[in-house]
Amino acid sequence: MGQRVNEEIPLKTDLLVIGGSGAASNAAVAAAKSGVDVLLVSKGKVGKSGNAIISTSTLSIDGETAYQLGEKKADRSLTKNALFQTIVKASFYLSEQCLVQDFVEDCGKRVHEFLSLARAMGKRVRFLAPSGWITANTTVGAVIREQIRRYPNIKIIEDAMVIDLIRSGDRVNGALALDLYNGKFHVIHAKAVIIASGGFQPYSFKCTSSDSTGDGMAMALRAGAELADMEFQLFLPGVALSPPHLKGSIYPFVWFAARLAQPAINTSSGKSVLESADKNIVSLGKNAKLWKLINLYYWTKEMECEGRPGSEEFYFDFSSVKRLSYLKSLLKMNLLLKMLYKGKWRFGGENIRPFHDMIKQGKPWQVGISSEYCMGGILVDEHMKTTLEGLYACGEAASGLYGAFRVESGLSEMLVQGYRAGAEASKYAKESQESKLDSAYLDKIKEQVSELVKDNLHSGRSSYNVYKLWDELRYVADTGLGLVRNESDSGSALSRVRHIGEEKISGLRVSDRSRHYNSELLNLLQLKNVCLCLQASLMCSMARKESRGTHLRSDHVRVYNADFLHRHVISFKGSSLSLRKRSPDLRFMEPSREVYKNIEEYLKKEFF
Ligand SMILES: Cc1cc2nc3c(=O)[nH]c(=O)nc-3n(C[C@H](O)[C@H](O)[C@H](O)COP(=O)(O)OP(=O)(O)OC[C@H]3O[C@@H](n4cnc5c(N)ncnc54)[C@H](O)[C@@H]3O)c2cc1C
Repeated sequence: MGQRVNEEIPLKTDLLVIGGSGAASNAAVAAAKSGVDVLLVSKGKVGKSGNAIISTSTLSIDGETAYQLGEKKADRSLTKNALFQTIVKASFYLSEQCLVQDFVEDCGKRVHEFLSLARAMGKRVRFLAPSGWITANTTVGAVIREQIRRYPNIKIIEDAMVIDLIRSGDRVNGALALDLYNGKFHVIHAKAVIIASGGFQPYSFKCTSSDSTGDGMAMALRAGAELADMEFQLFLPGVALSPPHLKGSIYPFVWFAARLAQPAINTSSGKSVLESADKNIVSLGKNAKLWKLINLYYWTKEMECEGRPGSEEFYFDFSSVKRLSYLKSLLKMNLLLKMLYKGKWRFGGENIRPFHDMIKQGKPWQVGISSEYCMGGILVDEHMKTTLEGLYACGEAASGLYGAFRVESGLSEMLVQGYRAGAEASKYAKESQESKLDSAYLDKIKEQVSELVKDNLHSGRSSYNVYKLWDELRYVADTGLGLVRNESDSGSALSRVRHIGEEKISGLRVSDRSRHYNSELLNLLQLKNVCLCLQASLMCSMARKESRGTHLRSDHVRVYNADFLHRHVISFKGSSLSLRKRSPDLRFMEPSREVYKNIEEYLKKEFF
């Protein structure tokens, strides 16, 4: 790995990168290539934290470029232009088209570099038609670490949580981080800062990394930057609910999405979820990567028909699958996983045999809907620059590429945007003068953190503790920002989250005063961030009185292009959050201003 930092010396760098996964490593590499000094600070271990390392690890690009890269089975009809159109339409026209253009231009190059390094390291990668590749999740992590190791001008600090940004006037020029193991502060002075700290996930049932607490989004907001599209969360249909030790596994989803022998998807009362679905739309899901959106839509409809919105129990029932077809699929999966995971029939770190034992015993897979990714995040322009000078954002922490639905690869986004942010921020760092740290502001944020460990719980508030508040917040997110939303539930959730933030979290102190790996303190700092992001999300969700992408409103089912073709942007005005509208960049493709009866009708008009 890069050189370890001696935390006793003052930390000064040209560019600070916050995060330790793919967006961060690509940003660091692009900057290091241009000759600037980079300091990368990560809450977890580099290449072993965040969502990339637990992903299915499929990366995709356009078919034209995949073919030029030597993949003779690539679908050349999936041109760059076709990819551009698919992203824009699937974003429901909320993506910033300049960002889509840059993504389409750069994704082939970035993914090729990443996978070439994997192959050079002896890792296994397999082409997946029409225009992607799959590798092992451990390979993604190993490549991230290797990328950084190759540049001596990238220094790293692991296991340190960046708490807040530091500003001088309107310019961001550093950050304060807490070393999780020894409790020391790192005061980092930088010419430019990139936030690559991933997404935000507030729900009770998750398959995301526990790092996804929206830290980067919350610190950007507190520093004066803006968030956008926070109402759009990407859910994953088909995440295991049982057996208990595999709860949260995405293997059932992967089996289903890989188009292997298809089980029936039933509700708990035995009704088939896709029975009454429009067959053309269902097949569109198979061909146009709209699989998640289409399934979420129909699964949700069934939940509502059964009068149980919010209940997330479904069954993958293999009883009517022909045995030969199942065995062929099993063999295919077995060979793929053995190839990727070096002879072991495992998926990621999981032994997936129990799933197949269940099929042998005639038991269905019990699955639910979990959240995978957030389309919302920090508002950036085509240079990955935020609204604050000196501050950039990329990957899942940023918003603007996928709008209301992420139809393409999050890993490709992470590589493309990371690299671009690194190149742009290093250019800025080279051209700009160092600005003085605002020591009064710095002392204030240091003091705020120190305060949290000074006293025991406030009198009269002793019934609150961090872990109970986590449960409360998750409940609020499940009920107000779940897969199906309505005015009344989201409204009560918003009042409740404001109350939790103002009345319960703000006065909370941790009872553990230790400086060494104080997980209670870490949880409190993260809880504050989730609370702020959740508030922003609920405000956006309430304001969007229509259905669009993964924002499904039971009380407003229409896709209302006439009134809602705008992004919702959140920022602080004084001490409160405020919402404004912003028109996305529509320079290449203009949407119709029609009102569609529902998501189904939108898909028919746009994709057939
Ligand atoms: C189960 C699952 C499966 C997926 N499968 C796929 C797939 O097959 N293909 C695909 O394209 N996409 C997939 N995705 C999405 C993909 O993983 C993400 O889009 C991608 O990982 C985002 O990369 P990132 O670098 O922006 O953030 P992350 O990979 O989430 O990394 C965030 C990093 O920031 C660090 N960090 C967080 N907070 C702080 C802080 N305060 N201070 C310092 N560091 C901090 C974390 O420790 C971590 O290192 C999947 C996601 C999930 C959850």
